[in-house]
Amino acid sequence: MSIVSSITTATQLSRSCILTNTKLSEDPHGNDLPKLWYRESERITSLLGNLRPKYLNEYIGQQEFKQVLKIAIQAACAREEALDHLLLYGPPGLGKTTIALIVGQELGVHCHIVTAPALERPRDIIGILLSLKPNEILFIDEIHRLNHITEEFLYTAMEDFRIDLTIGKGKVTRTHSISISPFTLIGATTKVGSLSSPLFDRFGFVQRLDLYNLNDLCRIVERTATLLALKLEQNAILEVAQRSRGTPRIANRLLRRIRDIISIDRNLNFVSMELVNEALSLLQVDSQGLDSSDRRLLQFLLEVYNGGPVGLDTLAAGLGEDPLTIESVIEPFLLQVGFLKRTHRGRVVTKDGCKHLGWY
Ligand code: ADP
Repeated sequence: MSIVSSITTATQLSRSCILTNTKLSEDPHGNDLPKLWYRESERITSLLGNLRPKYLNEYIGQQEFKQVLKIAIQAACAREEALDHLLLYGPPGLGKTTIALIVGQELGVHCHIVTAPALERPRDIIGILLSLKPNEILFIDEIHRLNHITEEFLYTAMEDFRIDLTIGKGKVTRTHSISISPFTLIGATTKVGSLSSPLFDRFGFVQRLDLYNLNDLCRIVERTATLLALKLEQNAILEVAQRSRGTPRIANRLLRRIRDIISIDRNLNFVSMELVNEALSLLQVDSQGLDSSDRRLLQFLLEVYNGGPVGLDTLAAGLGEDPLTIESVIEPFLLQVGFLKRTHRGRVVTKDGCKHLGWY
């Protein structure tokens, strides 16, 4: 089925890649490393497919949640039952999809991944539910975007592992129930408030993923750097972590770009903080992780409206962006770091925001 991408376990593959990686890093002929590492790291990344941790013990941070999940996985394995349904919510890039894949890996079952907007017609969800094998995982990303019909099929599927089909019209209408294999639904959303309560209530676990602290981010940067065969000095690791907005996906993205930039210089065995600074300023990512569109928004508010308040539509027109992009992509981080405030009269740059842009 085209809308379902079955995630095949690549355990052996990834293990052998990591082994290759270790061998490379320990190569006593350090001089050959720069020549080889870029090609080798490209190969490793493409073989791994991505930088996702595969097992729970490789997943960094979110300590309490990991403990709860570990116990639940062990209990489900012992009882040979499906794990209870799990809802994950929080900003993008914090590891929701990664957790779904890890749960599949730990339980030794397939994790089928689908995004809610792809489940347009009833036959889409019915087909998927019927194809699930016992205790497998169905991961639905952006679950708040499910349509009503699909959602209603999920109610009985989640609760009783059953699909109720209505056959015929008018007086000859009949309901036919079909049993399906017990499965685990893992839903991910950035907007938990948009979930209907009947759906929300059917999840046995509901977990919010928080932005990562600096310590955990440093560990993530270190891990990714190793996978990319990049050797970063300690203060370079800290610098990347500080500019990653508390988000592993951004940390990984910055590291990939740093790798691109330094790959031009073949004599580098270690990446220093200066080099990281240079690379990140080339990418226009500043010391707080703000990029050019974040700074442009603050600058516009300060220069044209003396810091605000300015309504969203005016701001969007002034910047030539659409309001939704401003609201869902640019603003959240500025609000989180306290550089921007939303008031009933519009957006206002805070004192910290002014300071960061050098206005005080
Ligand atoms: P989401 O589904 O929340 O948008 P993902 O699960 O796709 O986020 O994570 C984005 C990337 O960040 C992954 O490819 C993975 O490499 C990395 N990542 C996320 N969480 C962690 C973590 N706790 N430890 C290490 N890497 C992580």
